[in-house]
Amino acid sequence: MSTTYNFCAGPAMLPQDVMKKAQSELLDWNGLGTSVMEISHRSKEFVELTARAESDLRELMSIPANYHVLFMHGGGRGQFSAVVNNFLGENGQALYLTSGSWSKSSVEEARKLTCDAQIDNLDIVENTNGISQVVIPQLNEIDKDYRYLHYCPNETVDGIEIFDEIDSPWPIIADMSSNIMSREIDVSKYGLIYAGAQKNIGPSGLSIVIVRDDMLNLPCLPQSSIMDYRLAVKHDSMYNTPPTFAWYLAAEVFAWLKSKGGVDRMANTNRQKAALLYDFIDSSDFYTCKVHQANRSLMNVTFYLANEELNSEFLKLATETNLVALKGHRSVGGMRASIYNAMPIEGVEALVEFMKEFAANNR
Ligand code: PMP
Repeated sequence: MSTTYNFCAGPAMLPQDVMKKAQSELLDWNGLGTSVMEISHRSKEFVELTARAESDLRELMSIPANYHVLFMHGGGRGQFSAVVNNFLGENGQALYLTSGSWSKSSVEEARKLTCDAQIDNLDIVENTNGISQVVIPQLNEIDKDYRYLHYCPNETVDGIEIFDEIDSPWPIIADMSSNIMSREIDVSKYGLIYAGAQKNIGPSGLSIVIVRDDMLNLPCLPQSSIMDYRLAVKHDSMYNTPPTFAWYLAAEVFAWLKSKGGVDRMANTNRQKAALLYDFIDSSDFYTCKVHQANRSLMNVTFYLANEELNSEFLKLATETNLVALKGHRSVGGMRASIYNAMPIEGVEALVEFMKEFAANNR
């Protein structure tokens, strides 16, 4: 079987080594004669797995001791509502920065759960000659007592990433669904970080929440128990039956990341992979990227063919070459290559080769 490189934005490619290990121990995990998904989440073996997963994640992201790490249900969108219900209270207000599709969705969800006056929204993308760039205003000049500021540092659909740290007078909540552990970040700058698992962590459905302990003193709204951070902390993320198989695979991905030298090493490779692709796109008049250099995502490279009539031919031939799932999101069109941690540099090299050849054959 020749290698297939899967550029899907999510659920995305997982590390081959992890998938092979999972396959080899699917029917007999840890010598128990049963799979990990068939045992009690309260069994000694599973609880040990969760402790290992948490300590590996803490090490990988240098998570300070005053932060809780939660493994929750409901993916990224589950957290859109959880942050509102956990932190806004009856009269609280929050500021949402919008930079693309996912942060806009988080505003819609927040407004659905509150009265509109509680959610302020600031669009931070400027578009000049068709090129999108993030410009963040001086937030310290805003005279409002927000409970939190919410933003999405990597817009999966648009391929827009915000690399600068945000200087905010209010606790920062970041949706890192598509860039968690792709590069070094300083966790202590955030009140809460969340991520749906299906890009850099494991199977969909699981979400990781990293929350500073003082955030849990904010007033909350009535909410479902399974999305309640305080209950999740109290019950070690096991208030109800957690997604155990996803948790197991996440633990394996964390162990794999450590074996590869951790987030710093991964970040170097990610920068190389992204540079390879963006440099090629910039050098060609056949392809264009509509994101400003300062905000080009390391994880989701969006690009367009100069002649959009060739889109379906491009996708058909790419698939035949075992380069799959390159179609851009339906809301923005074009192409998108998602190159998360599990994508080896060889996958990006193969893509660039294919793009060169396609351009040469279609002039
Ligand atoms: N936020 C971001 C940045 C995402 O990329 C996604 C999913 N692609 C979500 C939120 C929503 O995640 P889910 O589908 O797990 O709810």
